[in-house]
Amino acid sequence: MAITDVRTGLGWDSHRLVPGGEGGRPLILGGVRIESELGLDGHSDADVLTHAVIDALLGAAAMGDIGEHFPDTDERWRGADSIALLEHVAGLVAGAGWTTTSIDATVILERPKLKPHKAEMAARLAAAAGIDVGRVNVKATTAERLDAVGRGEGAVAQAVATIVRAS
Ligand code: MG
Repeated sequence: MAITDVRTGLGWDSHRLVPGGEGGRPLILGGVRIESELGLDGHSDADVLTHAVIDALLGAAAMGDIGEHFPDTDERWRGADSIALLEHVAGLVAGAGWTTTSIDATVILERPKLKPHKAEMAARLAAAAGIDVGRVNVKATTAERLDAVGRGEGAVAQAVATIVRAS
């Protein structure tokens, strides 16, 4: 009898908010560029949501973490498109024989409101992960003005990924 190996991985990431607009940092979440006077700071495009999803997939497959695969000391990843990094990681996970069955994520950000962008973020993440959009969920919430995220100083994202493989 074939036994299905089911694994779950957790991802968490945070990035600081800094001035955006022309000459400033962009606000990119789940591969979607969102109009905002603030952007996320980081070595890559600082897509906090995609980074959490990458770590969830790497965690599920026991393949380490995003910092091992794309060190922020490496100039190759300066300004990197995080969706391309997710495509690369999804390829590694699939190459090890895993099928991704679900990705669920939450972005915590005070503003702007992300509701109008959630469906597009899920679609971009699903395409990059190589799975049906019905297997990806993106949730958005605020920190209710509590803590640093609540003061509008940054954004946090959490993700869970489930992968399966016949063993
Ligand atoms: Mg990050």
